[in-house]
Amino acid sequence: MNDNPWTRALAQLHAAADALKLDPLELARLENPDRVVEVSVPICMDDGSARVFQGFRVQHNNIRGPYKGGFRYHPKVDMDEVKALAFWMTMKNALVDVPFGGGKGGIVVDPKKLSEKELERLTRGFAKALAPVVGPYVDVPAPDVNTNAKIMAWFRDAYEKEIGKKAPAVVTGKPIESGGSQGRTEATGLGGHYALEAILEKLGRNPEGLSVAIQGFGNVGSYLARYLQKAGMKIVALSDSKGGIYIPDGIQDLDAVEQCKKKSGHIAGCYCIGSVCDLSNMEKLGGHDISPDEALTLPVDIIVPAALENAITEKNAGDIKASIVLEMANGPTTEAADAILKQKGIVVVPDILANAGGVAVSYFEWYQNIEKKKWKKDEVFVKLKRKMRTAAKAVYDVSKAQKITLREAAYIVALKRLSKNS
Ligand code: NAD
Repeated sequence: MNDNPWTRALAQLHAAADALKLDPLELARLENPDRVVEVSVPICMDDGSARVFQGFRVQHNNIRGPYKGGFRYHPKVDMDEVKALAFWMTMKNALVDVPFGGGKGGIVVDPKKLSEKELERLTRGFAKALAPVVGPYVDVPAPDVNTNAKIMAWFRDAYEKEIGKKAPAVVTGKPIESGGSQGRTEATGLGGHYALEAILEKLGRNPEGLSVAIQGFGNVGSYLARYLQKAGMKIVALSDSKGGIYIPDGIQDLDAVEQCKKKSGHIAGCYCIGSVCDLSNMEKLGGHDISPDEALTLPVDIIVPAALENAITEKNAGDIKASIVLEMANGPTTEAADAILKQKGIVVVPDILANAGGVAVSYFEWYQNIEKKKWKKDEVFVKLKRKMRTAAKAVYDVSKAQKITLREAAYIVALKRLSKNS
């Protein structure tokens, strides 16, 4: 089966459209992005040479409001990936009921190979190139893989210089001092926790003591790990692109692991006791190193793909031992793998629900910018919790009533909302 994310996105759309007997014109609008933009961004490197980077922005659909979705900086970014990610944003924004359409963008680059100054020049060049097609009421980007609050602040500043006036709401995920919202950095991880909690309640399962393995320890994975641990779950494995650690009794000090990853550049070997994190603690903790993908096939209750697409494929789906998959990454499960998980009765909390907390708080940030308001973090989290629980319950109820998976139900709930708006 095809692992192309755009092909998969279309298959998901067609399944839900068939179930709803969607009007052919409405379907045609969703089968094709409204606009696809490809730009060249030439920048001066620190050594004086010139390099040109390729950038994309896909504006999938704006039936429900301005296009909204992140920017990804990664060597493997390509048009089909960005199209799929933009489509998933349309569905996610409808599901979590924020007044946005779907968009996504990216640059083909390995940001780890650029200096800070080069990264800034690249981002400013990208903002300049996209200035004619983005804007607070048109298209509002945000952070995604390898992009962060600092990059959003550069983007905002360069965009404002281009248009000659203030426009804080042109991007979300900004630093607080540059118009960001309290709680945006934590939002995707925390939203995942709220969604999981709501689904566990519906399934009648107690979160206390459930073991969890997480693939990907960036923004999303690291906050999610902390919130799940706080809720009484046991984080037993963490991995990043270079490898990971597995401690069956539980990884206690997530802050120490994060510090160790920052210092060494990888999680593998980060066995922490007190402030000492190294391999000498591995045996004492009863742990061992794992490969990046091994986190997904460990004997645990819950696995969390929180890295990139196509992490769960037909090659490893059969080896999954967990009873729940919490999809924090976008598109982590291929079509073939999804069929295997369904057949095994594994509950998949789908990406468009699980990771919608990021865009929910992005909406709160955009709203505060437009309305010139500043909400406290507690207020943001209360609103986030309400949004995530409402969406999770709607999805669960449709799935139960129609005897379909949570993913199938999520698409039906989202598509119904889009259809009403068209
Ligand atoms: P990030 O760049 O902060 O972190 C990504 C992490 O994944 C890093 O730890 C990296 O080492 C790891 N990784 C990459 N390839 C891997 C592999 N093969 N195996 C194991 N680990 C690997 O990115 P992020 O913002 O945390 O995003 C992670 C996922 O969540 C992406 O799919 C993104 O689209 C999705 N997402 C992010 C947000 C957000 O607010 N940041 C919102 C919704 C969805």
